[in-house]
Amino acid sequence: MHASTGFVPTMGALHQGHLDLVTRARAENTHVLVSIFVNPAQFNNPEDLKKYPRTLLADLEKLRDAGAYAVYLPLPADLYPSTLAQVSLNLHPLDSAFESRFRPGHFEGVVKVLHRFFSVVQPAHAYFGLKDLQQCLVVEKLVDAFFPQINLHLCPTTREPDGLAMSSRNMRLGPEARSHAPEIYRQLQWLCRNLPLFGTNREITVQALATHGIETEYLDWVNLPDLNPAETPGGRQAILFAGYLQGVRLIDNVLINP
Ligand code: AMP
Repeated sequence: MHASTGFVPTMGALHQGHLDLVTRARAENTHVLVSIFVNPAQFNNPEDLKKYPRTLLADLEKLRDAGAYAVYLPLPADLYPSTLAQVSLNLHPLDSAFESRFRPGHFEGVVKVLHRFFSVVQPAHAYFGLKDLQQCLVVEKLVDAFFPQINLHLCPTTREPDGLAMSSRNMRLGPEARSHAPEIYRQLQWLCRNLPLFGTNREITVQALATHGIETEYLDWVNLPDLNPAETPGGRQAILFAGYLQGVRLIDNVLINP
């Protein structure tokens, strides 16, 4: 095998979902580089940035055990020198709906940091989680436009045994809220089994989630890769969810005909 670097960008507070990306990268590369950087550019809400969990020492232990070769811990000033030119990438139609609508500027921040990372690290392979499906579609556009030499790997969502998608934000849920959180995936699976009735079932799901203390921000059945509304089953599709539980923003999705 030729020497190759597999790159796994993260914001830390690592869980098994991140480590599964590292394991996958290890299997396909001679070296795995993991970055930990809570990227201010992708937070539109300063409170959310402040509250984002930071667990560096535990993260480093997990990465050592998972066999990461090196960890990159840049400071904002290292990554973003004042002379840095802005990246111009047309994200249409991904820049108007879902995460873009509720987190204005978020993907511009993601593009900014990944453009910088990819330029500095020059990985042969880069690994992302499908839990952040819209982000994966944005990264595909970035790689197509500027880094066609990078092999992009979009990896399945790692879940807790009860179905909750693993997320660094889950650690902010109290025990009561945590016990309700798996309802999100349960409802997504139910919607998926009854796609032709999505319109009616969507309302039932929103109400069911509300009884668990989960406030829906968006819940939609979409075609991929454009995320335009789906009306009939067929082709690559997904159901996307974002909502709040106990003030914690959670996202999840299910893929249909992946
Ligand atoms: P984050 O630290 O949240 O920015 O995530 C870093 C990478 O890990 C992103 O590519 C995420 O999509 C991915 N990731 C986060 N949670 C999961 C999960 N539960 N399963 C798989 N990948 C994940």
